[in-house]
Amino acid sequence: MSEHDIPAPGTEREDFIREIVKADLASGAHAKIVTRFPPEPNGYLHVGHAKAICLNFGIAQQFGGRCNLRMDDTNPAKEDIEYEESIVADVKWLVGGWAEHCLAFKPSGSTATANGADFHQAAAEGTGPGTEPFRASDSFDALHAFAVRLIENGKAYVCDHTAEEVDRMRGAPGQPGEPSRYRDRPVAESLELFARMKAGEFPDGARTLRARIDPASPNVWMRDPLLYRIRHVEHHNTGAAWCIYPMYDYAHGLSDYIEGVTHSICTLEFVPHRPLYDWLLEALDLPRPLPHQYEFARLNLTHTVMSKRKLLRLVTDGFVSGWDDPRMPTISGMRRRGYPAAALRDFTERIGVARRENRVELALLEACVRDDLNARALRRMAVLKPVKVVLENYPEDQVEHFELGNNPEDPAAGTRQVPFSRELWIDEEDFREVPPPKYFRLSPGTEVRLRGAYFIRCTGVVKNEAGEVTEVRATYDPETRSSNAPDGRKVKATIHWVSAKHAVDAEVRLYETLFAAEDPETAAEGADFTTILNPASLTTLTGCKVEPVLGGATPGAPVQFERVGYFVADARDSKPGAPVFNRTVTLKDAWARIEKKQGGK
Ligand code: ATP
Ligand code: MG
Repeated sequence: MSEHDIPAPGTEREDFIREIVKADLASGAHAKIVTRFPPEPNGYLHVGHAKAICLNFGIAQQFGGRCNLRMDDTNPAKEDIEYEESIVADVKWLVGGWAEHCLAFKPSGSTATANGADFHQAAAEGTGPGTEPFRASDSFDALHAFAVRLIENGKAYVCDHTAEEVDRMRGAPGQPGEPSRYRDRPVAESLELFARMKAGEFPDGARTLRARIDPASPNVWMRDPLLYRIRHVEHHNTGAAWCIYPMYDYAHGLSDYIEGVTHSICTLEFVPHRPLYDWLLEALDLPRPLPHQYEFARLNLTHTVMSKRKLLRLVTDGFVSGWDDPRMPTISGMRRRGYPAAALRDFTERIGVARRENRVELALLEACVRDDLNARALRRMAVLKPVKVVLENYPEDQVEHFELGNNPEDPAAGTRQVPFSRELWIDEEDFREVPPPKYFRLSPGTEVRLRGAYFIRCTGVVKNEAGEVTEVRATYDPETRSSNAPDGRKVKATIHWVSAKHAVDAEVRLYETLFAAEDPETAAEGADFTTILNPASLTTLTGCKVEPVLGGATPGAPVQFERVGYFVADARDSKPGAPVFNRTVTLKDAWARIEKKQGGK
């Protein structure tokens, strides 16, 4: 186990939120910890969500609690079942083996009743046999009943101002708001109007339900915030049952309460919403214990944008092939690109949890990916830009096989047979007709080792009429079969190869970052962020030559193309016998750096 491996379940992690959790368990404030991960199903999850997932599930797992996966589905206009399904799949993939310890699905067949009590009870009982995520929409009845109670207690009222009036009257930070003209409307009238809103008697926007808090509060979120609005839109879960929908801030804390959540962990932009979160729970005078909200800094990553709105733009405007394009910072894109779940979890552990905002280097995520793949990826030979080498002294019809190890880091990974014959493919990078200084690979007169096979010496080249090299000629030394030369002579380079007769043709996709700039938002200087997309983020190579076993490469199973990088067969486009490989991440290329210093080839 390397120092970078993810800790086994139960391993102690430390951060300020875990300190709070520990103290709450020690004081008996909570007997069992319940966290939740509450995405809105309006897009695919990205690597920022991975941080929130690992934190919430990690805490549940570490302290013997559970974590609810909850769809925050209160805005039917933007949400979709496709997104919900992708979220469930991504969370299961990322949480992996931890799921059985802490992933809570909705108990089968349960919905929240009017006061939420049964649901609270069922949810508190544990992970259960359910397979569906929790949904805020499953609690619409309970949330509605809570709203009625707030009106009855004089803590909410129906307001007839238009959205524009409400916005204007709310004021701004440092500038007081104005009270709604409907603030002191009699309770009975608000109850009646709220019932008629629910019954569909009014058009969208005609009325809202608002909390009766303080129109002049220094915190704008406390200036009589909206709790319900009218939206005549079908919902992907509740269909046409509702035409009033709760606002996020209203539904969120109460859903936490209904599900028995103890620690509601979110990102820092929710700090100013916390007083409202607490006010609602207090105003309903709910039985204790109540959930509490805690905030941490969101993850920002270099060379990418992360907001779902921007990622959606990239998809809908065709800048990428879809949400799971391997260049996307989405969990599904990273999975398709070959990032292992364990590497993503390791990354979130290494960046830690704090309250200070910063931008994490993509290079760190790539280092986590390399560490994981180095231990697990099977080594293979693949030639991305093929040049033919003909071994003049190798018999025409002879074929022999070399037994090569699958992974030097892991002897248990076994070996494979690699065929060898008179005509081979090598990479164009590994041959120079006129070698620059310090170039130790093949050139006329020099000798190199073919990985796992023989020494070969270049004797010359064959050119076409245009003067381009079409074939490299060489001789091999039979005395060097998988061993050193008997006369002790050395070569300075080992290169990879594929037998031309046995090679499988492959397509290989090389990925670079979507944005060359570290911080695309500021680099765009006010222009649309898509204007600074990296035009070289995808290079597709066809006619690549790979060793025969790769013809049947399993999508998702990582391989290292020796000396080139880590790759994975594409889950969508790869076919048996016609593989398509995605480059997951490069190896560190020492030669590229030397070449750069020398100022080009
Ligand atoms: P985006 O801003 O990308 O549109 P969001 O906040 O609207 O994301 P939600 O689906 O509401 O997305 O987020 C679900 C949970 O994931 C929230 O608790 C949110 O705080 C958390 N989260 C979202 N983005 C990040 C991030 N970059 N880093 C850490 N946590 C995040
Ligand atoms: Mg959000």
